[in-house]
Amino acid sequence: MAKKQFAVIGLGRFGVSVARKLMEARHDVLGIDIRDEKVEDVEQYFTHAAVADATEEKALTALGVRNFECVIVAIGNDIQSSILTTMLLKNLGVQKIIAKAVSKRHGQVLEKIGVDWIIYPEKDMGERVAKQLLSPNVLNYIELSKEHNIEEIKLPVKMVGKNLRELNLRAKYNINVIALVRDGDVIVSLSPEHSLQQDDFLIVIGNRKDLVKFSDL
Ligand code: ATP
Repeated sequence: MAKKQFAVIGLGRFGVSVARKLMEARHDVLGIDIRDEKVEDVEQYFTHAAVADATEEKALTALGVRNFECVIVAIGNDIQSSILTTMLLKNLGVQKIIAKAVSKRHGQVLEKIGVDWIIYPEKDMGERVAKQLLSPNVLNYIELSKEHNIEEIKLPVKMVGKNLRELNLRAKYNINVIALVRDGDVIVSLSPEHSLQQDDFLIVIGNRKDLVKFSDL
């Protein structure tokens, strides 16, 4: 993957977690926080880190934030700062803005400003935990619409050793396999003769009800 430039504003637990993962994937990350100690904590791990008040246009301009492909606003509790910062970023013409919201109202304002992706960490995580408890065989999922998901589902034991042709999942369960995850590797070009093994995960697309039937096997 080509190296990308990200800026993370607000180095609390959320901001630092996002930034660390991006660094691990070898992207450039600029971390910004108004508090010296937060910046000192991450300085050695991030590509750049700066102490700045993100609600000041001059500070954002001096850091060249408008040139970043994606900026993550990880300020939460100080709603005023989160909103001001987001508005400035929008005015500066930042291509993609992701922001954390701490309440529904906060999220609604961010949406009005034109934030591309609003994250409600507690709500989103709570929903993920519930989903994991209800469907323990589903490792990961993406909601495509109200009805359709892409899910990473553990291969049901009774399907171990069989191939995709034999299983005929499209006809039997109304779901489509798009990839296979084996030992952490994603295999996308699957042949119908591909034999499935224990501990494989299938990445499948389908209607949520059909996916539940399959993951409950
Ligand atoms: P988390 O839940 O992610 O740990 P938190 O509870 O530490 O966050 P938040 O209020 O969400 O606190 O703020 C996250 C970070 O944003 C803090 O480290 C804070 O210093 C920083 N921050 C707040 N206002 C600004 C600002 N105007 N400019 C830059 N950073 C800011």
